[in-house]
Amino acid sequence: MSSIFPTYARWDVTVQRAEGATLIDTDGKEYLDFTSGIGVCNLGHNHPIVNKKIKEQLDQVWHVSNLFHIPTQEQAATILTENTCGDYVFFCNSGAEGNEAAIKLARKYTGKSKIISFKQSFHGRTFGSMSATGQEKIHEGYGPLLEQFEYAVFNDINSVKSLVDNQVAAVMIEVIQGEGGVHPADPRFMEELQQLCIDNKILLIVDEVQTGIGRTGKAFAYEHYDLSPDIIVSAKGLGNGFPIGAVIGKEKLKEAFGPGSHGSTYGGNPLATTAACAVMSQVFQPEFLKEVEVKGNYFMELLNEKLTSTFVNEIKGKGLMVGIECNGEVGSLLTEMREKGFLALSAGPNVIRLLPPLTVTKEQLKSAVSVLAEVL
Ligand SMILES: *Cc1c(COP(=O)(O)O)cnc(C)c1O
Repeated sequence: MSSIFPTYARWDVTVQRAEGATLIDTDGKEYLDFTSGIGVCNLGHNHPIVNKKIKEQLDQVWHVSNLFHIPTQEQAATILTENTCGDYVFFCNSGAEGNEAAIKLARKYTGKSKIISFKQSFHGRTFGSMSATGQEKIHEGYGPLLEQFEYAVFNDINSVKSLVDNQVAAVMIEVIQGEGGVHPADPRFMEELQQLCIDNKILLIVDEVQTGIGRTGKAFAYEHYDLSPDIIVSAKGLGNGFPIGAVIGKEKLKEAFGPGSHGSTYGGNPLATTAACAVMSQVFQPEFLKEVEVKGNYFMELLNEKLTSTFVNEIKGKGLMVGIECNGEVGSLLTEMREKGFLALSAGPNVIRLLPPLTVTKEQLKSAVSVLAEVL
């Protein structure tokens, strides 16, 4: 009997140890892990450099609160601003909290209240981030939601235009929708969206919680487009499993987040920001990102070559964020793959979502494709 609220449908696997892209369960069975803790352990499990840095910090100081100067927080913020178009960072503990802060910042800065997001989006489970999430199943039973949240059709600029009036504070978007089915935005759409935002003094918030930290072969996925977002939200891969989130904003937003305007007890604490610095010191190296791109292209080619089943409709994604859209439900296929020692995710009922650690080897990509081909 479990004393945990049954909010999750759990798999029949208990992990004992983990190394790189390999999980070993309590029965000693090995799995190839293409879930990475849902896009979190981008450097793989048990990464020596991240582990070493956290252990060192653990023996110095864990937590002090934001009443103090925190050098590792300064350092993490500097790395984030050097690797994005943003200038200032607010640290929190998760993706939802990051989006929550982004929504607050956008409302405060613009003095307007409407937030436009997209159908099939996912932004988190707090009231603000849930209200921004364009999926009814996430809202069910929790109404009324926050006011002034509206959903446009992804990749349809006219749909966004039809929602624009003089009350819009921000547009919030994932450049590749993750939970909603691994849908990349069209470059043309993103450029028109950015122009629409500029013309109407609307802030552009890019939710990079899943797509950031090297996942798509760039530090952040918006770099695949000709974009300069006002606010970027990061989490998941940022701590490689240590809980941390970050909101990265442009210079002009500084005054709106003045002393006392927002806060978090744990946000950016020494341990969390040590983890983030260690992660970014690896992932943001140009050679590392290049390698992700190369492996992503290799994986995509192999998938297209080997997955010849008519059950497969389309293979989508970027870098090491891949969705296999099928002509039916994939739940039982994921179970079958687990039995064969391969772990994958779904994104909606019909999409198999693959988020291997970015450190995955070509051999591991190859064996993943052979299990997928066999099961499909
Ligand atoms: C996972 C996710 C979130 C929510 O992050 P949490 O850390 O679970 O709160 C928000 N946005 C996107 C795009 C995500 O993939």
